[in-house]
Amino acid sequence: MTREISTDLDSGTEDAIRTHVDNYTATLLDISHRIHAKPELRFEEEFASTLLADTLAHEGFRVESGVGGLPTAFLAEYGSATAGPTIAIFLEYDALEEIGHGCGHNVIAAMGLGAAVAVKRWMNLCDDTVGRLLIVGSPAEEGGGGKNYLIKSGCLEGIDAAMMLHPSGENLSSMRTLGRVALDFEFSGRAAHAAVSPHEGINALDAAVLTLNAIGLLRQQLPPDVRVHAVIREGGDAPNIIPERTAIRAYVRAPDTRLLVEDLQPRIENCAYGAALACGATVTITKQAPTYAGIVPNSVLAQLIERNFARVGRKTDPPLTEVFPGSTDMGNVSQIIPSIHPNIELVPGLGMHTHEAAALAAGPAGDAAVVDGALVMAFTTVQLLSSPGLMDDVRTQFTEGIRVD
Ligand SMILES: [Zn+2]
Ligand SMILES: [Zn+2]
Repeated sequence: MTREISTDLDSGTEDAIRTHVDNYTATLLDISHRIHAKPELRFEEEFASTLLADTLAHEGFRVESGVGGLPTAFLAEYGSATAGPTIAIFLEYDALEEIGHGCGHNVIAAMGLGAAVAVKRWMNLCDDTVGRLLIVGSPAEEGGGGKNYLIKSGCLEGIDAAMMLHPSGENLSSMRTLGRVALDFEFSGRAAHAAVSPHEGINALDAAVLTLNAIGLLRQQLPPDVRVHAVIREGGDAPNIIPERTAIRAYVRAPDTRLLVEDLQPRIENCAYGAALACGATVTITKQAPTYAGIVPNSVLAQLIERNFARVGRKTDPPLTEVFPGSTDMGNVSQIIPSIHPNIELVPGLGMHTHEAAALAAGPAGDAAVVDGALVMAFTTVQLLSSPGLMDDVRTQFTEGIRVD
């Protein structure tokens, strides 16, 4: 049970934040639309990251680009960690193949920028320095696990609370997601004429098929909320040649990230090792992308977000009782830093990664989310920076999870 916390915000501060966002809305929407009009894939978000970093530098943030070894990542900070907590707002800005900003990351970037500028302007008017605001430009959420590189480089050390908002088909103060391991299996055998001398060959396709069958049987003994899905990426070249090289890519997902990496992943890998052994082939297993950990939401941050959704006139839907069956690298952040990853509605029931979502992300619904989302995160950040008791509650509710590669 989480105890009730104070979600108060004095009316003077609330009005000031509203004015700061109001004054900046034209710029925010322009930036949202420009990023939307120039979709960039994972690790290639040069236009978006430069636009956002330059805008923050212009606002007086200290900006460092290329952090974590990623050219399109950046940190922008304001204030001082010696004066109070460090509150981080994460921006995402990568797009998808074929459907551009069908995940609405242009909205995420603009919302976070709006919150950043509003909080910074509020900090300017405070009598004392209240802490440190850190804006994290995090590339390659879509399949690249960009936040993993930032974590491993150490540049997220010292953050006391982290947040971002994601466009969606509902207003949710918090959500859990599945962790995900992405594995590549490469099987090696020996080519032979499939009719003349099949007995001289070692069939790498048999090893791949046997692996899939083994995984299929293993499903019976997997927890019901685990997902395993795979494709054959290389299956041989011609029927009259015993395939000497084949490849499978598999995703394994589970809500419990520790179970995923310590138990499920080795069991799936053993399916391939066993299959290769049975066929006389060999298998090499590599990770196709960094592992995504499941989101562990901080319930104190969730209470603040829920109250602040109400402040902008958005009623939150009841928290999902089940884990959302997708994955995000914000999960990795949430395992080591108290975090929140709420959803903000574009239209009810919207499915993301669709042409419809891409169109909405640059239309009136996306624009409304930019303004409301900036307000929600600015209110939440100001509450955390100005109330040490709240930060104590955030820390008390947090239990460190697992770091994954
Ligand atoms: Zn997405
Ligand atoms: Zn997304």
